[in-house]
Amino acid sequence: MIVLSAEFVKSASGASGWPPPGPREYAFCGRSNVGKSSALNALAARKALARVSRTPGRTRLINFFDLVVAEKTRAGGRGQQHRLVFADLPGYGFAGGPREEREKWQEMIEEYLTRREPLDALVVLVDGALGAQPSDVEMVRWGESLGKRVLAAATKIDKISRTHRSQQLDRIAGQLAVPKVTGFSAKEHLGVDELWSALVSTCGPA
Ligand code: GDP
Repeated sequence: MIVLSAEFVKSASGASGWPPPGPREYAFCGRSNVGKSSALNALAARKALARVSRTPGRTRLINFFDLVVAEKTRAGGRGQQHRLVFADLPGYGFAGGPREEREKWQEMIEEYLTRREPLDALVVLVDGALGAQPSDVEMVRWGESLGKRVLAAATKIDKISRTHRSQQLDRIAGQLAVPKVTGFSAKEHLGVDELWSALVSTCGPA
C-alpha cells in the first residue's frame, strides 16, 4: 500500500468528541504494550504518527487518524485509492488496576463499538510471542457479540523463530477462535501489506 497522507485528527473520550462520521473506520485495540503504536506507525508508514497518543492524558482516550492510501499496481504504480480512519483505542489488560478506571474504559469502548456508525472492523492485536491472553479472548468475543467484524493480528512475530511462526499463528487463531491471524512485525516490517489488504478489502474508493 502507498500511504498518500496520514494525519492525527483528534482525541475523544465520548460521542460528543468524535469526529463527524466520515469514511470507513478501523478500531485498533490490544493489551497495553502489545505494540499497537508501533503497528499503527508501520501501517501509516510514519515514524511517530501514533506518538501523539503518548501525550499525557491521551492514553485513555480514543485517537482518530485520517488516511488516504493507494493500492500498488503490479507495475509498481498507484492503483485504487481509499480514504479511511484509524481509531486507536486505549489499551486494556490492566488487571489489578482501579475498578473505577476499568469501568470507565469499558463504558467508553462500549459506547464507541455500539454507536460509531462508520466502524467497519475491530482490529485486535495480540502479542505474537506471548500468545492470546484471557483479556484478548474477551475482547474478540465482545466485539463479535456486538456484531462487529474482527480482524486479528499477532504483533512482534520477529521474536518467534521463522520455523515456528505458522504454528504459533494457528495456536493463537485457536485460542481466539477466529479463522485467521495475520503475523505482524513493526520491527521487521512483516505482515504490513497483508494487514492492509484485509483492511481495504471492504472499504470503498476515496
Ligand atoms: P503499545 O503500548 O501497544 O502502543 O506498544 P508500543 O508500540 O509502544 O510497543 C511496546 C514495546 O514493544 C516497545 O518496547 C517496542 O519497542 C516493542 N515492540 C513493538 N513492536 C515490536 C515488534 O514488531 N517487534 C519487537 N521485537 N518489539 C516490538
